[in-house]
Amino acid sequence: MPSSRTAVIVGAGQAGGRTAAHLRKQGWQDRILLLGEEPDPPYERPPLSKEVLSDDADPLTGRLYPPDWYEENGVELRQSCRVERLDLGDRTLDLATGGRESWDVLVLATGCRARLLDCPGADLPGVMTLRTSADAGALRPHLRSGAQVVLIGGGFIGLELAASATARGCKVTLLEARPQLLERALPDRVAALLADRHRRAGVDLRLGAGLAAFEGEGRVQAVRLGDGSRLPADLVVVGIGAQPNVELAQAAGLACDDGILVDSHCCAGGSVYALGDCSRHRDAWLNGPVRLESWENAELAPQAAAKAILGRPEPYGGVPWFWTDQYDVNLQLLGLKQPVEREVLRGDPESGSFLLFGLAGQRVVTAALVNAGRDRRPVRQIIEGRLAVDPAALADPDRPLKQLAKGA
Ligand SMILES: Cc1cc2nc3c(=O)[nH]c(=O)nc-3n(C[C@H](O)[C@H](O)[C@H](O)COP(=O)(O)OP(=O)(O)OC[C@H]3O[C@@H](n4cnc5c(N)ncnc54)[C@H](O)[C@@H]3O)c2cc1C
Repeated sequence: MPSSRTAVIVGAGQAGGRTAAHLRKQGWQDRILLLGEEPDPPYERPPLSKEVLSDDADPLTGRLYPPDWYEENGVELRQSCRVERLDLGDRTLDLATGGRESWDVLVLATGCRARLLDCPGADLPGVMTLRTSADAGALRPHLRSGAQVVLIGGGFIGLELAASATARGCKVTLLEARPQLLERALPDRVAALLADRHRRAGVDLRLGAGLAAFEGEGRVQAVRLGDGSRLPADLVVVGIGAQPNVELAQAAGLACDDGILVDSHCCAGGSVYALGDCSRHRDAWLNGPVRLESWENAELAPQAAAKAILGRPEPYGGVPWFWTDQYDVNLQLLGLKQPVEREVLRGDPESGSFLLFGLAGQRVVTAALVNAGRDRRPVRQIIEGRLAVDPAALADPDRPLKQLAKGA
């Protein structure tokens, strides 16, 4: 008997792949069509800037499911399949290849793309970005020992790339326009420690550095800075953030504001949903709209959307969590950076493992965990529960965080 309804998911990245799985698991019995522009099946991106570049891991090491999974679960996956246009009125979409599909439920999981620089020479061969497995595959051969690599941007991707390129013996210069690394995400103290770790690894880290142009004959050979100086470069990687792929939604008439606007069930209206990096959801815990570019959001939002699609809506939200790995540093962040009244340090930064809490009144609103991932669960409970905590207890390594999370 033919399926009566079709759920079409546009974007076969982490969020799109997880949506297909949750729909099936939670009881969608009809057709699921998963359309992705990339030639690869859904995969997680975090390894791309880490072990794929530092250790020669398979660029698809983060693939979500084995190849047989799609057929076994009745998910029609189409790779290299770009959706060009949506018609919300007659519930159809047009493919770049010329076909047309109808949908009853539409999920947009179009993610982000790397932000590009608009400066002279930005289109020279050898000036690259990192977003996809193909990008990682193209970058890796250039990370040869002794190669002069210039990284533009001291965000998560640029810093992870600095660590990976250094591990391969490259001579790395990292240019950051702001006076601090990861200014919008990290407490000043943690940013300073991270900067120090990069410098100790041999990275020529230049904060407050202005960029003028990329130069070269047929391929990038140098980077010219705002002060007129020149840095020789065999490879440049631009890591200045990502921009949400909203054009498809916008052209179809969906409301967008740096992300497709959705409610706390990931619903954009009617039977149209959006989730993952491309969406700005009304977060039930933060109590406001937020666009998150994180692995965890791409894992959890699909569960919420699937529940809503299947008629069991539960508001989605929680304390945002991000992590990064650089050298011997695993850094985890809970909460979004905001002005805090007080910082509380737990542990000794000299030991390489510590926590830094940001407090508003007696409530912890942010936490940076440096090589202290084991404490993530209780810290999350403290923040999520909006518990009033005694700063002295928080700072005392002999007071178990589990105890404080129970309100004790
Ligand atoms: C190098 C790298 C390292 C990262 N490391 C971390 C980390 O350590 N920790 C962390 O929390 N997060 C990390 N992230 C972020 C995390 O990977 C993203 O938040 C996550 O991938 C978002 O998933 P998504 O499915 O929403 O978007 P994406 O993964 O971007 O997937 C969207 C997909 O949609 C496709 N698409 C777009 N438009 C169309 C269209 N019109 N038709 C068909 N297909 C389309 C795209 O080609 C893409 O395949 C990292 C990201 C990168 C790039």
